[in-house]
Amino acid sequence: MSASADPGYDVVVLGGGYTGLVLSALLGAAGRHVAVLEQESELGGRARADHALGADLIHHPHAVLLGFADVMPLRHELRSVGLRWAVPVAQHALAFADGRPAVVLHRRDHLRMTHDSIAAVSRADATLLVEILQRSETLSIAVGRLLVTAPDLDTVVRHLDAVHAVYSGLPLPSSVEATAIELITTAFVSPEVQSLLLALAHEFGGDPFAPGSAIGFLGVVAWQIGRRAVPIGGMGSVVAAIRAVAAHAGADLFTDARVVGLIREEGRVAGAVCADGRIISAPSIVSTLGEVATHELAEIPAEPARTLGTTSVLRQHLVLDAPLRLASERATTDRAVQTFFGWDEPTEMLDRLAMIGRGAFPAPGGALLRPTIADATQRPREGDLLLVDSTFPGVQTLSGEEIEGIGRYLSAATWSRLRDYAGGSEPRLLAGHVAPPGRGDRQIRLRPGVEHYRTSVPGLWRAGAGVHPGGGVHGGSAAIVAGLLSER
Ligand SMILES: Cc1cc2nc3c(=O)[nH]c(=O)nc-3n(C[C@H](O)[C@H](O)[C@H](O)COP(=O)(O)OP(=O)(O)OC[C@H]3O[C@@H](n4cnc5c(N)ncnc54)[C@H](O)[C@@H]3O)c2cc1C
Repeated sequence: MSASADPGYDVVVLGGGYTGLVLSALLGAAGRHVAVLEQESELGGRARADHALGADLIHHPHAVLLGFADVMPLRHELRSVGLRWAVPVAQHALAFADGRPAVVLHRRDHLRMTHDSIAAVSRADATLLVEILQRSETLSIAVGRLLVTAPDLDTVVRHLDAVHAVYSGLPLPSSVEATAIELITTAFVSPEVQSLLLALAHEFGGDPFAPGSAIGFLGVVAWQIGRRAVPIGGMGSVVAAIRAVAAHAGADLFTDARVVGLIREEGRVAGAVCADGRIISAPSIVSTLGEVATHELAEIPAEPARTLGTTSVLRQHLVLDAPLRLASERATTDRAVQTFFGWDEPTEMLDRLAMIGRGAFPAPGGALLRPTIADATQRPREGDLLLVDSTFPGVQTLSGEEIEGIGRYLSAATWSRLRDYAGGSEPRLLAGHVAPPGRGDRQIRLRPGVEHYRTSVPGLWRAGAGVHPGGGVHGGSAAIVAGLLSER
């Protein structure tokens, strides 16, 4: 839509990624007149899907799975406009290069299968893990609340109390300072289970070395295990659905609208200036562009605040000429939507985390994602499409050219490592692609409560991956900021 006439809005949202779209849908539903300004010719940001790898291949440079489908804001509205998702039975696996059977955690309604898979390596671990998963089920309301609530002391204490009550009586470290690593390596005995849980702690919960991360593991990570959802048609379908919900709520969604500056009147924000000279005015502006870009636009100095996490995830696409089978898969039902490879022993995982902490690039390894097992529309007509997510130290500071250079090495190295895990089948790598991570991913600045979302400029707010509850396609920060602005 073109923005030739500016009717004056109640709120202008900078960025038409998932956060911006949820925000506009919620504010529109609350009766606010909202404009979303997106610099690209398409909406969706890091939740966008395209066909860059070929007309018959859905390409997900970034987000591919939903982690909070059960509790995320607007889930019912998304369903009502036709969005569907599948939750694969086999969820998270750890594969082994020596052919040992994979350890597989299954969907929430298949805890018996999880138990049997873990019991093959340790009966005690199977009993404890299933008990933790069963008890974590009762945290759904608490996790859902955490997702849409500013993180003030009250909220945190309430969640900690809920977590303590849920797991009381289990043989787990009780100190609030305990780390996830301590929890996993003392409560579980088999190296296979330890490696898999460390991988999940890192993947879902951030830094497992951080004091207090044991409670984070029990309170948030354990709840997420077994809930990975594959949107049918790919993440692009989620964007199409939220776009429809936002448009239905009356939001004006502008593409090709790169914001280059903000207008201030008497100290307050009053509008946004686009690269082509258009001015879109509103007394409130919410930026989803990340801390650095927002501060640049508003010409305010970066605030000295502690940054949490300097890691970022690189997404690789590997196109093969035939399906990949892993030697350590027991049967086709064990083809998990997320299979970790590259750390057959817990020490390999800990070494990797330590290297990342020192800013060094570790050997290839990561999470192999296979949305195609749950959604045939994402399957290539021939061959196989693998998605591999690997964490690296702060690659968001690298230029596109540098990422491309790393990508050339990384695709070949990752494929070479993955072949150590392939059993019998010998597919050839036809193409490898590495997507740049995007600025601001996984960086959260610590601030209490509403200060997370407010900037020093009256009327200018922040939302998105750089504020609580952080990155992910869930719209949590959008719900919080929409709540704050609807109060006004
Ligand atoms: C490799 C990788 C894999 C991931 N996998 C998953 C996953 O499987 N599941 C999951 O839930 N999450 C995943 N995430 C995280 C998730 O993709 C992001 O946290 C989420 O999509 C961020 O949404 P957002 O709207 O906050 O930001 P963005 O999607 O980054 O949106 C910001 C928008 O602002 C626009 N913009 C920037 N500057 C301007 C400007 N000056 N003017 C106008 N517009 C501008 C951008 O073009 C963009 O569209 C992954 C992230 C990465 C990097």
